[in-house]
Amino acid sequence: MANKIPRVPVREQDPKVRATNFDEVCYGYNVEEAQLEASRCLNCKNPRCVAACPVSINIPGFIAKVNEGDFSGAAEVIAMDSSLPAICGRVCPQETQCEGSCILGIKGEPVAIGKLERFVADWSRENGGVKPQTAPANGRKIAVIGSGPAGLACASDLAKLGYEVTIFEALHRPGGVLVYGIPEFRLPKDEVVEAEINAVRALGVKIETDVVVGRTVTIDSLLDDEGFSAVFIGSGAGLPKFMGIPGENLNGVFSANEFLTRNNLMKAYRSDYMTPIHTGDKVVVVGGGNVAMDAARTALRLGAATTIVYRRTETELPARREEVHHAKEEGIEFAMLTNPVEILGDEKGWVRAIKCIRMELGEPDESGRRSPVAVPGSEFEIETDTVIMSLGTSPNPLIARTTGGLDTNRRGCIVADEAGATTRPGVFAGGDAVTGAATVILAMGAGRKAAAAIHEYVKTL
Ligand SMILES: Cc1cc2nc3c(=O)[nH]c(=O)nc-3n(C[C@H](O)[C@H](O)[C@H](O)COP(=O)(O)OP(=O)(O)OC[C@H]3O[C@@H](n4cnc5c(N)ncnc54)[C@H](O)[C@@H]3O)c2cc1C
Ligand code: SF4
Repeated sequence: MANKIPRVPVREQDPKVRATNFDEVCYGYNVEEAQLEASRCLNCKNPRCVAACPVSINIPGFIAKVNEGDFSGAAEVIAMDSSLPAICGRVCPQETQCEGSCILGIKGEPVAIGKLERFVADWSRENGGVKPQTAPANGRKIAVIGSGPAGLACASDLAKLGYEVTIFEALHRPGGVLVYGIPEFRLPKDEVVEAEINAVRALGVKIETDVVVGRTVTIDSLLDDEGFSAVFIGSGAGLPKFMGIPGENLNGVFSANEFLTRNNLMKAYRSDYMTPIHTGDKVVVVGGGNVAMDAARTALRLGAATTIVYRRTETELPARREEVHHAKEEGIEFAMLTNPVEILGDEKGWVRAIKCIRMELGEPDESGRRSPVAVPGSEFEIETDTVIMSLGTSPNPLIARTTGGLDTNRRGCIVADEAGATTRPGVFAGGDAVTGAATVILAMGAGRKAAAAIHEYVKTL
């Protein structure tokens, strides 16, 4: 019986070794491992995994091709629904999506759908990739703001439909969080991200970097003067939050966004770059999400003893289990039920310690999680050279401020319907700019829905 085969484990770099380098942690499956794992899939008639995939990839369809050894066929099946499979195979929270719904997970371990997707995407890239199929040019121009997963997915679907698509990106390198946020050791930039972006370029999509929409150009000028029929906003949620406690402006306090951007985009970790970052010997990261894990694991690799401070318990940590497991294996310390109240500096204005208070869990709050309550008189100090705040992000208000008729909600997110239509006709939006910080696959799904809506909208012009 196929489902008697245990889930095939994936090979990874040794934790002690990888804690000192930025090479990818996970090695992925080889051909034999991938085919063995694929043989576990029951090819269900009503596949629950597909229903749980935000872009509805034909999962049993591509896995069956892997099982047969037809890897390019498998890549073609995935390409029908996803333009970024090597990325999604690495960073999607499969445990709560496709794998979380796999029928084999009820009594045992689900099929390793993410690792199989990654295998197929890597194999395809190394063997020439999938030949794109595009409709003839239809003479219409569409502008896409932001080159993260939402913008890339929207742009590739529109290019396949025959549109002339230009992506305007504020940074000097395209990819959004995929290049500036998620570290190299989880998602290699040149080998994986750049290759998938080049596949989007191969569809005819133009990417103009160093263009800040709202400053260099505006949405009004794109629509009124530059001949674009519609605009998609995929500008993400890159504005970091702070706690508002004393000491946050001391030297040595970073937002996780700045810390990760300086490492990933400005290569602070490489001695051949002139843009290093100073962490000192000890680093405290405040927060418990994926971003906190990435910041902590990056600080560790830069040589600092690193502690994560989180106000609830391990059960409530919002980060993926796999990331928490990897962080622990590498030697990150976790200070749970702990909340900062002040950052303390030395006489020169540099961080020397963080003052925290112990917490206990009280009644559930509106999120359903038990809310942390401070234990009076339990303050204590943790000595540290650097504090990295990882408390979430919100959308940058620049685009909303410079575009008439574009409503935002009280969290600063652009208001858009299910299909991505905003309150301004001809302007669509999706991804983190609409939902607030979420996931790569949800951003991609929103970009794809908006592409379909833009196609319908343009027909009415
Ligand atoms: C450190 C970190 C780790 C994460 N890990 C995971 C993970 O493991 N799995 C997962 O699924 N998700 C993860 N996420 C979340 C995920 O990366 C985001 O949800 C996703 O990237 C959102 O995609 P997006 O296209 O909406 O925005 P982004 O990826 O943020 O891209 C937006 C782009 O728009 C550009 N832009 C912004 N304003 C303008 C402007 N005015 N003009 C021109 N361009 C502009 C930005 O420079 C950026 O390149 C992580 C996020 C972070 C920060
Ligand atoms: S639910 Fe699991 S076993 Fe069924 S088709 Fe999907 S991956 Fe295969």
